[in-house]
Amino acid sequence: MTVCPVDCIYEGDDMVYINPDECIDCGLCEPECPVNAIFVDTDVPPNWKEYIQKNTTESKRIAGE
Ligand code: SF4
Repeated sequence: MTVCPVDCIYEGDDMVYINPDECIDCGLCEPECPVNAIFVDTDVPPNWKEYIQKNTTESKRIAGE
């Protein structure tokens, strides 16, 4: 995703993932998400909390870490 200045958004099969260790919390990607699914980790809605761990695991797997 070109909007990210540190290139820490990784494309998976059915969604994209943000590497939390690389993200600088600039917020530029939030308005670009077509389904409004990007949140700072402390603001993730309760019913989406399970995605926090999935995001970390998958972003690092795709990045080859
Ligand atoms: S908030 Fe993080 S993922 Fe989003 S554009 Fe900024 S650095 Fe990239």
